[in-house]
Amino acid sequence: MFVATPKELEHIETYAERYDELSLKTLTYIKHGQHEFPVQMLSLGTDEPSAPCLVLTGAIHGVERIGSQIILSFLKSLLRRLDWDQQLQDTLNNIKIISIPVVNPWGVALKNRSNHRGVDLMRNAPVQSTNPRYQLYAGQSISSKLPWFRGNPLEMEQELTAVSTSILNLAKKSKATIVLDLHSGFGTRDRLWFPFAHHKRPPNNVHEFYLLYSVFRKSYPHYKLYQFEPQWHQYTTHGDFWDWMHLEHYKDSTAPFVPLTLELGSWLWVKKNPMQLLSFSQLFHPTKPHRIKRVERRHSTLINYLMQVLNNDLLVNITDIQHEELTRKATNLWYPSS
Ligand SMILES: [Zn+2]
Repeated sequence: MFVATPKELEHIETYAERYDELSLKTLTYIKHGQHEFPVQMLSLGTDEPSAPCLVLTGAIHGVERIGSQIILSFLKSLLRRLDWDQQLQDTLNNIKIISIPVVNPWGVALKNRSNHRGVDLMRNAPVQSTNPRYQLYAGQSISSKLPWFRGNPLEMEQELTAVSTSILNLAKKSKATIVLDLHSGFGTRDRLWFPFAHHKRPPNNVHEFYLLYSVFRKSYPHYKLYQFEPQWHQYTTHGDFWDWMHLEHYKDSTAPFVPLTLELGSWLWVKKNPMQLLSFSQLFHPTKPHRIKRVERRHSTLINYLMQVLNNDLLVNITDIQHEELTRKATNLWYPSS
């Protein structure tokens, strides 16, 4: 069986060769048949362990390659600006950007949502939903031939084990970590989700999510792209990786850890090019080059904003009074009945 190397993986290596500012680390190799593909991590910015950290991840679902492309094009733009942009140089002397553009290389290579073992990497973590209503998409343990297969949550897939170990180690030392995990789904608008997906209670640091939401709204009043909400507002699932990462981090750390899932509304582009409905893998990926560019461009404001939140220590310098007020506002907005 011949399997072509995904071009996003090739781009990661090309970038690492071309730009001295980037450092490349292979987290693991995933073997399947006679081939193996690496899970690669690119680091940019200071290597001071306590520095604030922005983590960008893409293609946990193999058909959602647009996430990898947004990350890579954002990095390219940063690297080019570094030649002349003193402010950006200062920012990157203060913070670090860690990216894993292709978490699921076999999914990308085989054009599958799941990995090569049929496991949906967003249903594989050891967290169980308490939602009594059973739906297949919440994660199922019936068969790897069906979508949303959970695999064995007691022994996470190799991709997730490698990614979680690296990110949790970084987050433990860093004074504040924001994660942006990029997906594309069926919705009509772009959503920013935060934990939890497996139950309806607020995370212990809900005030930090509210801060990100409210400062963005205030700072970009004409920019109404994102529906910002806890993921269970849309649906609850078993095995959500970021739910689990959040719980793991706070077992032995108090440093802010703010994982966000950006779910790009693919209907936005499918609507304009209905031929995409004929191809499953294209449903999650715009095909026209100008549309890819537009999607890439649309989200650079958000990523730049997250960098500046970290650079300005907004999550670190929250006073007790602010904490209380942010928590109250978050509860009113997202958890009105609790
Ligand atoms: Zn996804």
